[in-house]
Amino acid sequence: MHDTVDVRFIRRASSALCAASVVVLLGACAHPTPPDSIEPKSWVIENVAAKTTAELYADLIAPAVFERSGSKVIDGYTVESGNLRMPDKSMGSLITVRAKDGSLTAIIEVPGKQGILRVNADGKSIFTREKYPDSSVEDSVISTDNLLMAPSSSKTTADNEPRVIEVLAGFSRAYANVVVDPHAFSLAEMETVNLALRNSLVTNVSMKLAGIQIVEPNYLASKETLHQLLTIFSSGIDQYAPDVVAGFFNGEGSPAVGYGNMPGRTSVNAGSFVFRHEIGHNASGFHCSPSDPASGYGFGYNTSIMCGAWYGPYYSTPLVRDENGQPRGDALTADMARAFRENAMRLSTYTASPATNFRKTGSTITKITFGWDQSNDAVRYDVYRETPAQPQPQKIAETVSLTYTAADSSGRSMYFVKAINSAANESKPSNKASR
Ligand SMILES: [Zn+2]
Repeated sequence: MHDTVDVRFIRRASSALCAASVVVLLGACAHPTPPDSIEPKSWVIENVAAKTTAELYADLIAPAVFERSGSKVIDGYTVESGNLRMPDKSMGSLITVRAKDGSLTAIIEVPGKQGILRVNADGKSIFTREKYPDSSVEDSVISTDNLLMAPSSSKTTADNEPRVIEVLAGFSRAYANVVVDPHAFSLAEMETVNLALRNSLVTNVSMKLAGIQIVEPNYLASKETLHQLLTIFSSGIDQYAPDVVAGFFNGEGSPAVGYGNMPGRTSVNAGSFVFRHEIGHNASGFHCSPSDPASGYGFGYNTSIMCGAWYGPYYSTPLVRDENGQPRGDALTADMARAFRENAMRLSTYTASPATNFRKTGSTITKITFGWDQSNDAVRYDVYRETPAQPQPQKIAETVSLTYTAADSSGRSMYFVKAINSAANESKPSNKASR
């Protein structure tokens, strides 16, 4: 058996009281900082590769019961997620991401204690308690990045089309070292949002990790970093064509644990419980509802991700009830689920991913047929040709299929496609091919 970890958690009673007193957007919420700086605890698990994920985290989630609602293999990692139901029926969450070598990154959210568990392939384990964003601190920044790369407009639509929001997770080297396996950590971060969206009945919107980039300089989780984010991670943006860019940095010395553009596509994050909050700001969401319907519906609610000292894996929605049978939101003042549905098209169409593997699939004397692997968010493809006589690429066709047949007997022309998404953004060119 593995050793148990003795971690004492101190409830943040003062924060909970503060949250209950309905905080307005910029309102200062004066409360003493709770003594939550619990040192990381470490221990060793023997024969780690033979242990199930349930055995690895059992001691940390007790007495909660894990209700698994997601399990997928992504990029070679096994990503599992679900709620943690406490004896009093209040709800926490658990995300586990396990690599092939047996190492584990888990985000554990048990009411009153939350943090990240890392187990390496040798069984060395460390649990670090982490903070929630404080909804009394203003961390939403009125967007400027829309100016740089905006979809045709910020008009909102809500439909049931599947919307996949592709995310670049950017790290400073220092923070990548802290999380040990930034790829696993990034997958876990995406899943914190996906779980909350599922719990909140936003079933057609999901986050997908497009790629990660690590930069050498260190940055604070600050507004200044937020404003520079698209520059800091420009090469990752170039490579992965993400819709949303999330920077992960050390929180030490930072003015807050995160900032998010509202509405927008960028956030800076320090810790495991920040991104699901900042993406809420990206989706045009505010903190706690001021209870005045004139302010709109895009607010959090008690114990939802945008509001409160203790969050739980929910965005506000009137359609889901809490452990006391009360709605987790209000249709007029606290419906972040609606905000996500209505902003999903914008959030998922900042960029179009290029088609890949463009190749010749057949030819006759007079014709060449090409095929390609689809782009995630293409609604059509534009086919281009460049010839020795006309080296500037010419658009020669539009197609919704994944093949194109060109009348061409010369063998000296090059072809490629660009993907076009539903916001009419065009991707970078695919690779090129010829006869
Ligand atoms: Zn916030």
